[in-house]
Amino acid sequence: MDFDLTEEQRMIQDTAYKFAVNEMAPVAQEHDREEKYARDVWKKACEAGLVGPVIPEEYGGAGMGFVEQALITEQFSRIDLGLCLCVTAAVFGSEHILFFGTDEQKKKYLPPLVSGEAISAGAFTEPDAGTDVAGIRTRAVKDGSDYVITGTKMFITNGTICDFMCVFCVTNPDAEERHKRQSIILVEADRPGVSAHKIRGKMGIRASDTAEIIFDEVRVPQTNLIGQEGFGFYQLMKFFDATRTMVAAQGVGLAQGALDKALRYVQERKTFGRPLFTNQAIQFQLAEMATKIELARTLTYKAAWYEDQGRTDPSLNAMAKYYAGEMAVWVCDKALQMHGGYGYIDEYDVQRFYRDAKILEIYEGAKEAEKMTIARRLI
Ligand SMILES: Cc1cc2nc3c(=O)[nH]c(=O)nc-3n(C[C@H](O)[C@H](O)[C@H](O)COP(=O)(O)OP(=O)(O)OC[C@H]3O[C@@H](n4cnc5c(N)ncnc54)[C@H](O)[C@@H]3O)c2cc1C
Repeated sequence: MDFDLTEEQRMIQDTAYKFAVNEMAPVAQEHDREEKYARDVWKKACEAGLVGPVIPEEYGGAGMGFVEQALITEQFSRIDLGLCLCVTAAVFGSEHILFFGTDEQKKKYLPPLVSGEAISAGAFTEPDAGTDVAGIRTRAVKDGSDYVITGTKMFITNGTICDFMCVFCVTNPDAEERHKRQSIILVEADRPGVSAHKIRGKMGIRASDTAEIIFDEVRVPQTNLIGQEGFGFYQLMKFFDATRTMVAAQGVGLAQGALDKALRYVQERKTFGRPLFTNQAIQFQLAEMATKIELARTLTYKAAWYEDQGRTDPSLNAMAKYYAGEMAVWVCDKALQMHGGYGYIDEYDVQRFYRDAKILEIYEGAKEAEKMTIARRLI
């Protein structure tokens, strides 16, 4: 692996950073306070070609790799993780179509995601099944040429604003192997029987839409099956390989943003008649923060690069996500501490970074789930 980014990758990084500074920074606090999805920012990002970069050109995308997507995600998260999700997660779930869909499904569902005409979601978690995702109960029963879907999904990103979602359902309840009972089925959000309820009061990423979704005998044609019936669990694991690396990139960007803020503050703030920065105790903490961020960045780029080479390494992806999430929580804690009392009030952005960081240890599989993947590989 070449450790230098190409000129084109640097340009993408730069474009994403400038977009985040100009379009996200001015509205980040407002969207956090009001728990409001940033539709305008998402639209502008689509116009700038920054949404769904890995979608191939033939389906309207830029045909870039996961390294490029990680670079964009990192720069957005450096400014605001909630708004980063409004943009990068607007295609969440559609990776199932990209990886396993038919050409017809790709032609129908992928281009509107890039052009800003549609938003997707991935509905896997249920009120009683998160880490143990194979324990879901949502049922899809065949009836004529349709599936009839009944069940409840929990904590679904974009739940109230999406146009369609890829839903993890039990289709083969009698299969002997527990992991061969599920499939991924695409459900349009306006189908009769679908109802979404926004979850308010999140600790962080408050601009991102999160919902509970109820499916009450929702009828979809069997042609909405994505991939192979009974192989949904394995498709979901492949999906997580790609998306977990992006969560790692979120952690790297968010931590870098917190470090940026801490660096600025310790040079401005004076205690005992001199800038905070002149204390070696502060300098050592800054050095540790920068080192951990660089370590997570290297791990993340490496995992994304392997993904691009078609050499997916689930253990490496899990390491990147678990380490970057934990690191981001740690870095944000240090950055807030350096701000003293000012860090604790919402006039200073660092408290938002601190609140936002925690989700990185929870979603896309909590960090314990990543450790299970790593340990399985070791043994
Ligand atoms: C803001 C937000 C957005 C989300 N977006 C989506 C989305 O778009 N789509 C979607 O499908 N889901 C989404 N989720 C759900 C998320 O992926 C789950 O919350 C996560 O996978 C954990 O599942 P759980 O909450 O059921 O926790 P549980 O599975 O109940 O686990 C509780 C705790 O116990 C730990 N634990 C569980 N089992 C073990 C074990 N065997 N050994 C050790 N520790 C264990 C877990 O790691 C966790 O810390 C979102 C969640 C949030 C909060």
